[in-house]
Amino acid sequence: MYYLSGKEYDEIVKEVINLYEDYVLNSFPIDVKALATAMGFVLKPYSSLQKEERGFLLQKEETKNGFHVCDISKGYPKYTICYNDLDQEPRWRHTIAHEIGHIVLKHGSNPTKSQEAAADYFAKQLLALSCIIIEMGLGSVEEIVYRFNISWESAFYTYKSIMKRREKFGDSIMDYEKEFIEWIRRWLPS
Ligand SMILES: [Zn+2]
Repeated sequence: MYYLSGKEYDEIVKEVINLYEDYVLNSFPIDVKALATAMGFVLKPYSSLQKEERGFLLQKEETKNGFHVCDISKGYPKYTICYNDLDQEPRWRHTIAHEIGHIVLKHGSNPTKSQEAAADYFAKQLLALSCIIIEMGLGSVEEIVYRFNISWESAFYTYKSIMKRREKFGDSIMDYEKEFIEWIRRWLPS
């Protein structure tokens, strides 16, 4: 497991919050495919590929879950996210979110280990934002799994990081989350 600095984690959360506000992500689980499409990205599921091509991608560690490509032939970047939709839904939701992370965080085509860790954290937060979990008062891994349609592994990681955050800061909201929490509260059941 590769760790980032506290500042890097905060910067990623800020990027995720921007997406929530810009694309009005206000119901959960979020529709990550609709988000990618709204951002102008083309989605290509592995089930749409030829058998040989799919087999080739599934064999390789770097492409077995998914990847993205950037086409600049028209003078502007056009992104395509390819994802293994033959995997379970929480997995491919994470894959699409992870690739969105690489694009938003401007990682380029050859991401480093720390950029992979950043895209993973981005994906986890995009699908189940810590401050929303706290605001909703969800108190178990199970509740997080069902509310956000994510894997148990992801939910466990996020749950643990919220516990750590509680130990350090209690249930207080970070400065950069304040406005966002006010905004999201309008849509959350009270
Ligand atoms: Zn990646």
